[in-house]
Amino acid sequence: MRVLVLGGGYAGVTVARRLERSLPDSVDLVVVDDSGTHLVQHELHRVIRRPAVADAIAVPLDEVLPRADVVTARVDEVDADGRRVALESGDVLDYDFAVVCLGASTAFHGLPGVRENATPLKRRRHAERIRADALGVCASGGRIVVGGAGLSGVQTAGELAALADERDADAEVVLLERLDDVAPSFPANFRAALADELDAAGVDVRTNVRVTGADADGVHLDDGTLPYDAFVWTGGITGTDAMDGDRPSVRSDLRVARKTFAVGDAARVVDADGEAVPASAATAIGEARTVAENVARLVEHERAGSGAFDPRLDSYRFDVPGWVVSVGDGAVAQLGPAVLRGTAAKTVKASIGVGHLGSIGAVQRAVKLVEEELP
Ligand SMILES: Cc1cc2nc3c(=O)[nH]c(=O)nc-3n(C[C@H](O)[C@H](O)[C@H](O)COP(=O)(O)OP(=O)(O)OC[C@H]3O[C@@H](n4cnc5c(N)ncnc54)[C@H](O)[C@@H]3O)c2cc1C
Repeated sequence: MRVLVLGGGYAGVTVARRLERSLPDSVDLVVVDDSGTHLVQHELHRVIRRPAVADAIAVPLDEVLPRADVVTARVDEVDADGRRVALESGDVLDYDFAVVCLGASTAFHGLPGVRENATPLKRRRHAERIRADALGVCASGGRIVVGGAGLSGVQTAGELAALADERDADAEVVLLERLDDVAPSFPANFRAALADELDAAGVDVRTNVRVTGADADGVHLDDGTLPYDAFVWTGGITGTDAMDGDRPSVRSDLRVARKTFAVGDAARVVDADGEAVPASAATAIGEARTVAENVARLVEHERAGSGAFDPRLDSYRFDVPGWVVSVGDGAVAQLGPAVLRGTAAKTVKASIGVGHLGSIGAVQRAVKLVEEELP
């Protein structure tokens, strides 16, 4: 019997580590990831200002998955009903059970010229390119535009402003948001604290601004063109090519087909209470825990030949204690109804990435991240 985990991000590593412990030795556990590395993506914006963070947040999958067979390959297509995965290499992997944890791609919404002229932020190479462009702007002066003020856009703008500040550069950072607030899908007191923190960091936040396209020199808006010297796009997510650009909707048992699950950014999850779950690292990990339990139960059921009806599966319930976001050297944390700023929020922020690395057994990298986050 073969269980496939596609993708080695937060969801993939969490599922695979749990299945390593729960599946019998006779079941093959295969993890396929195009990078062969677990990237602590929610710290990626830090690389823009502190390149050394890149090594702390990239963990070779072999190091944290001693039992699974890690295959470094790109998934081209997932046939959930036929239980087959096509790899870019031409190989095909059949499976008994699979969990799709492929994350998401940046959404450019078909806006003309945006994909061609902006740098997204999903991979290490993107952070390095943004850093190089930003250093260029810091050296000669100018404007860096960040399009989209979700969690990644807010944190990217914060890093860019702090970088310009550290270098005493004549560089302006503008953060554009289509809706009327930054982090529009988060609670009002959190949004207000973030807006204050961005203002204090010197970011020029412009809300209710619709990007209609871009060219090599400017971002096109409803009411004119905003010239830029560097352009970063964090304007949302969409499905990966392997999923035909789709993020399939899944209910609380997290299944896209009887023996295929999808979790994390790769899916649109509605939880056991009917609540739409935001795409985030925290929810990806929670969903993955539920799926690991369900896959183990189904495997046991099938191996025991216990009949045609599936056993009862656990439901995922959205239960995240809060949100923490960095803005340069500052941070904002929402824990329950309370919003924290300053050192308390900074410490919570640092502890999340460090705690995550520790929880997957990457202890040395956790120590390195502490050194970078709390110098
Ligand atoms: C700059 C930034 C800041 C963020 N800040 C926060 C935050 O503060 N809090 C928070 O909760 N969330 C934050 N997020 C969001 C969070 O990082 C994502 O929600 C999270 O990474 C989703 O986890 P995942 O496991 O679903 O996908 P991912 O972590 O994206 O993992 C997907 C994996 O699949 C691999 N893969 C993709 N396509 C293929 C393919 N075709 N074949 C093989 N492998 C493939 C990738 O290499 C990757 O290893 C932030 C994101 C960014 C970019």
